[in-house]
Amino acid sequence: MAQQYPEWIWQNGEIKPWKDATAHVMSHALHYGSSIFEGIRSYVTPEGAAIFRLTDHLKRLYQSAKIYDMVLPYSQDQLAAACREVIRKNGYSAAYLRPVAYRGLGGFGLSADTPIDVAVATWPMGPYLGPEALEVGITACVSSWQRFAPNTIPAGAKAGGNYLSGQLIAREARRLGFGEGIALASSGLLSEGAGENLFLAFDGVLHTTPASASILAGITRDTIKVLAREDGIEVVERDIPREYLYLADEVLMCGTAAEITPIREIDGKQVGSGKAGRLTRRLQELYFGLFNGKTQDKWGWLEPV
Ligand code: PMP
Repeated sequence: MAQQYPEWIWQNGEIKPWKDATAHVMSHALHYGSSIFEGIRSYVTPEGAAIFRLTDHLKRLYQSAKIYDMVLPYSQDQLAAACREVIRKNGYSAAYLRPVAYRGLGGFGLSADTPIDVAVATWPMGPYLGPEALEVGITACVSSWQRFAPNTIPAGAKAGGNYLSGQLIAREARRLGFGEGIALASSGLLSEGAGENLFLAFDGVLHTTPASASILAGITRDTIKVLAREDGIEVVERDIPREYLYLADEVLMCGTAAEITPIREIDGKQVGSGKAGRLTRRLQELYFGLFNGKTQDKWGWLEPV
C-alpha cells in the first residue's frame, strides 16, 4: 500500500505542502549525519489537545545544537509556535511531532559553517512497538552491536548520526525475530534500547542506567522518575550488568514513541512472570493518567496545542 503522508509541514519559517519540503542532495547532513531532532507526542486530554513536555523537548533540541555548534535561526518560542501550527494546520490532536534542524547546502568540508535549515513534521502515530505491546509486552535481545563510547560520539545529543547505531541494533533484533534490541555500552554494562531507555524492577525498586552508559537521557525516563518518586516508589540510577536483565522482576522500555512498554522475554528467557508486572502497570496508569486526567499534572507538562 502506498504510504500516506500528511498534507502540511513547516519548513524554514513557513507552512507548506508536504511534497515541497525538500533538501538538496549535497546537504551536509545527508553526507555526514549532521542533523539534530526531537520526537514529541501530543495527546487528547480532557482539557483539549496538549503537547507533552514541549518546552523540555525543545530545550534538548537546543542543547543538541550547542554540542554541534549549530546556531538555529529561530528562537525556542518560534519553534514551539511552529509545532502548534503544524498540528493545527493538519487538523490533528493526538500526533507525533518531529522538529529537525540540519546542516544544509553550503560547502563541502566537514567543518563547513553551512546554513542551518529547520523543519517540523507531524503525523498520527499509534503504539510504536506494535498494537499489543503496551498490554502484553515485547520480546527483546541483547544486540551484538555496542553503543558508541562516550569519548567518540556524544550520546546525550539527539543527532541524526547517532541513529546509525540505533538502526544496527533495531534491524538485527528484527532480523532475529525480536521486538526490539538492547545495547551494552562500551564498558560492557547495560546501556539502552535502540530508541528507548530501560528500567528494571527489583524488590519494588526501579533501577535505570546512568548518563555515563551512553544513553540519551530521555524525557519519558525523567517523567517516570518523577511520577514514581511522587508515588513512593524508589528509583536509583546505577551501573547495571547484562545478566540483571534476566534476574529482574520486571523490565520496561520507555520513550516518547514507545511510551511505557513492558518486556516479557529477553534473549529467550522469561522476565519475571512473563507479563506486565505490578510496577510497570502502576507506571502506565500514572503516565497515561496524565492524558486521561487521572494523574494531576503538577508540573505544567501538558502544553496546549
Ligand atoms: N534513547 C534513544 C536512543 C532514543 O532515541 C529515545 C527516543 N527519543 C530515547 C532514549 C527516549 O527519549 P525520550 O523519552 O525523550 O523520547
